Parts: sequence; structure tokens; C-alpha cells
Amino acid sequence: MNPNQISHLFTNYQTLVKRVDSHIANIKKAFPDLIACKKGCDGCCKFLTLFPVEALTLSDAFAHLTEDMKIKVIRKIEKEKESCPLLIDRECVLYPARPIICRTHGYPIYMERQRRVDFCPENFKGITSFSKEMMLDIERLNTLLVMINRQFIESIETDPPFLERIPISEALLTLCS
Ligand code: SF4
Repeated sequence: MNPNQISHLFTNYQTLVKRVDSHIANIKKAFPDLIACKKGCDGCCKFLTLFPVEALTLSDAFAHLTEDMKIKVIRKIEKEKESCPLLIDRECVLYPARPIICRTHGYPIYMERQRRVDFCPENFKGITSFSKEMMLDIERLNTLLVMINRQFIESIETDPPFLERIPISEALLTLCS
């Protein structure tokens, strides 16, 4: 699969990523002293499974890493099953290309059906409620991601077809093989 031939198929996904990033930037601006997320704080970096559109986006970024770094990640895939293989020396080596779930971790997400708000307890200490615009409607976000992924899959024919969810260890190598 040639990344240059499919890059235009990532446009909708990249637009969603930008919207999520913009939302998170607004939260950081509103609570500048109450965000503990930083380099080295990696408790959220567990082994992921990804939709194909996310998997190929990440694989495209992985293909651009240095050979040394690729080897480090592949070694980690071989010996580590719990944490994310992209976490090297407690740092995400593909941070700018990280999946959407990684961009939302730690920030207030709203689950409409369960009427529940969740966020990392290390963040927002002392805050007991958020205005609606400070919360990410996670069900709506997931619905958008599913729609974008479906459109992506319909635009690209593969044999065999993509798995519904792709383990990150396989996802990274999709465009390298
Ligand atoms: S992709 Fe990066 S931010 Fe996401 S879980 Fe892996 S190491 Fe962490």
C-alpha cells in the first residue's frame, strides 16, 4: 500500500483530530494551573486497538521514524504486551500523530447515557463541575469516528479486508510491509 496514494483519504480524520485538539487547547487555557498531564506521566499509555483509519494514519507516521527508533519500537512490541509500544523512555515517539483517544485522556469527558463525567484525578484538583463546553461528549465523538472510519474503509479496497479494530502492534507495520 502506497501512503502517497491514500493520504487524501485521511482528510476527514485529520479534521476531527484538529477539532479535538482545539477543544483540548480551550480547556488548557481555562485551567492553566490544574493540568498535571506532561511528559513522563504515562499511566494512560496502555496497549491500544485502533480503527483502520487511525491505524493507517499512525503507520504512515511510523514509516517516517528513524530506523533506530523503529527498531526500538519493534523490540518493545516483541517483549511488552501491556503498555503502548510507542512509549519509549516514558515518551510517546509519535506524539504529534497519536490517536484521538490519547488526545482526550485526562480531560473531562461526558457520557450522556450514563450521565457521568470522567477525568484524571491528577487534573482539575478542587473542581467539582464543568460547563458543557468544557466537556467532550465522548459518545458523539465515537459516533463521528465510526462514521469517518466507515467512509475510509469504503474508499479503500483491501484483500483481506481490514479487521474492525487493529492492535497497535500490527497497525504500525501496515504501511511498512
Ligand atoms: S500512541 Fe503515544 S500517547 Fe497514545 S498510548 Fe501510545 S505512547 Fe501513549
